[in-house]
Amino acid sequence: MTNRQILLTSRPAGEATSADFTLVERPVPELADGQVLVQHLYLSLDPYMRGRMNDAKSYAPPQPLNAVMIGGTAGVVVASRHPGFAPGDNVVGMGGWQLYSVVDGAARGALRKVDTSRVPLTAYLGAVGMPGVTAWYGLTRICQAKPGQTIAVSAASGAVGSVVGQLAKARGCRAVGIAGGTAKCDHVVTELGFDACIDYTRHADPKALYGALKAATPDGIDGLFENVGGALLDAALARMNDFGRIALCGMIAGYDGRPIPLANPSLILTCRLHVEGFIISEHMDVWPEALAELGKMVATGALKYRETIATGLESAPEAFLGLLKGRNFGKQLVQLA
Ligand code: NDP
Repeated sequence: MTNRQILLTSRPAGEATSADFTLVERPVPELADGQVLVQHLYLSLDPYMRGRMNDAKSYAPPQPLNAVMIGGTAGVVVASRHPGFAPGDNVVGMGGWQLYSVVDGAARGALRKVDTSRVPLTAYLGAVGMPGVTAWYGLTRICQAKPGQTIAVSAASGAVGSVVGQLAKARGCRAVGIAGGTAKCDHVVTELGFDACIDYTRHADPKALYGALKAATPDGIDGLFENVGGALLDAALARMNDFGRIALCGMIAGYDGRPIPLANPSLILTCRLHVEGFIISEHMDVWPEALAELGKMVATGALKYRETIATGLESAPEAFLGLLKGRNFGKQLVQLA
């Protein structure tokens, strides 16, 4: 059997390009005792991958050069020499940008069997996976959302943001999104049930953006779930209520190395804000509780999500670069088979 893999072969200086990746073909190795062969049906593309491409200090080691790009995968077991897995099992793991992976079946958390009878396989990479748990943790544990509060979230139509707003609504909050473009904002309000959504592309001027956010948050913002940074964070900071809480989840506006200085950091002091960055893989203790709620909500239709699915492994680099430019609409996936 032949595997196809995408390797990171150079580190971007500034914006990543497709030339940083190389597609190779290699034989699938024979299974040793305890190993499982997984065919990947879907690859998840996520913003964190851009950070891993840099050789810089971070919360995780850099993606090694000339190695298969890191990535979450959902697939099916095709052969197994581990008693816990059998051919036909649907599984999720961190298989990377390739068609097949050989996994140590005993490695803790390396491969998780999933039930696709009520939750579609792809949802385990999105609303009922890492992005969903990220939304759940930031909203419940850091923003500590309570009924009647106003929760604002940037990248609101995306994998994380879309779940943040819906969970906030389910907890009796006012949910206000910020997203790029009319179609995304319409979706956030009409389909996902947010109370309002600001299209930041229509408000290039910081005063105009602030004005639009002010109109959408008449009682100020109690909890901010920040995914973007830069001008969007500046505008939201200026709307924070005293003792407001900010879950600093992502700063995608700066992932290509562009500086995104805060315009008015003294607001953190004068509004006595609680600002907390977090990395969801460091909070494994909450995953079972979060996944139980998210899985139930998706199974019953209470939690909606949208996906952008590219086709074929070779499309992964362009789809990933598109994600960093906002060309995805909802969870970005690549269908591999
Ligand atoms: P999304 O599905 O939201 O896709 C990324 C979105 O970010 C784009 O669609 C675009 O939306 C927006 N965006 C991209 N580039 C820019 C830019 N330069 N300026 C403004 N907006 C931009 O991705 P995810 O939901 O997977 O991730 C959202 C955020 O959450 C990211 O910052 C990510 O790093 C972070 N994250 C953090 C985790 C943690 O543990 N802390 C775990 C998972 C995600 P639009 O068109 O609306 O601008």
